[in-house]
Amino acid sequence: MAMLEVKDLRVAYGKIEAVKGISFEVEEGQVVTLIGTNGAGKTTTLRTISGLLRPSSGAIYFEGKRLDQVPAHKIVTLGVAQSPEGRRIFPRMTVEENLMLGAFSRTDHGAFTEDLDRVFELFPILQERRAQPAGTFSGGEQQMLAMGRAMMSRPRLLLLDEPSMGLSPLMMKRIMSTVKTLQEQGTTVLLVEQNANAALKLADRGYVLEVGSIVLSGTGRELLASDDVRKAYLGEG
Ligand code: ATP
Repeated sequence: MAMLEVKDLRVAYGKIEAVKGISFEVEEGQVVTLIGTNGAGKTTTLRTISGLLRPSSGAIYFEGKRLDQVPAHKIVTLGVAQSPEGRRIFPRMTVEENLMLGAFSRTDHGAFTEDLDRVFELFPILQERRAQPAGTFSGGEQQMLAMGRAMMSRPRLLLLDEPSMGLSPLMMKRIMSTVKTLQEQGTTVLLVEQNANAALKLADRGYVLEVGSIVLSGTGRELLASDDVRKAYLGEG
């Protein structure tokens, strides 16, 4: 059984169906990526897994438990956390306060300090600037904060929505290498990216979404080598 199983998932906004019956799996320990252009349904899929949207049909299982009728705050306590598109950090709050929000499901103070230390180890700059308002951060630093906040609930599955958006190539590399580190430390990652090249280089598996449907899947390496992917997503051919 895969850690995450998405089965024939359909999600609509009113009459507009954004996700049209997709199925995919994420095995424990893997980095799996969903790639595709604007509007393909990637964000909709992630938000449905994390409980912010409800499917019109289909099912989502996490570690064998059905997720798609569970409220979002409960899904966090089951071990799934999302780092949202656009980061959604709270600019007037300090770095540390933003991180505390990610730990809302925690009741034990000892574990909180431990998690904070782990996040500071991943992103030392967050520790240096822990008392600074998050709104003064660069895009890359805000991305680190959004990922750090998601990691505060100690998720077994991390949902990452477009972490590379708007970042310099150098900062993007930094973020992608952190995804690898998280994987090495035992976190399973579902990564949504428009930057197909960066995502596929890192991913164990990838799925290509086009207007709400999965049109191609394979290992990261297979997809990087695929002519269709190279033409449509890597700007070649
Ligand atoms: P992006 O990279 O731009 O976020 P995406 O692949 O994540 O693209 P979604 O954001 O999931 O795509 O959008 C899928 C489709 O659903 C698009 O056609 C979009 O216009 C539509 N959509 C998204 N959010 C809403 C909403 N709140 N109300 C109505 N339609 C929406």
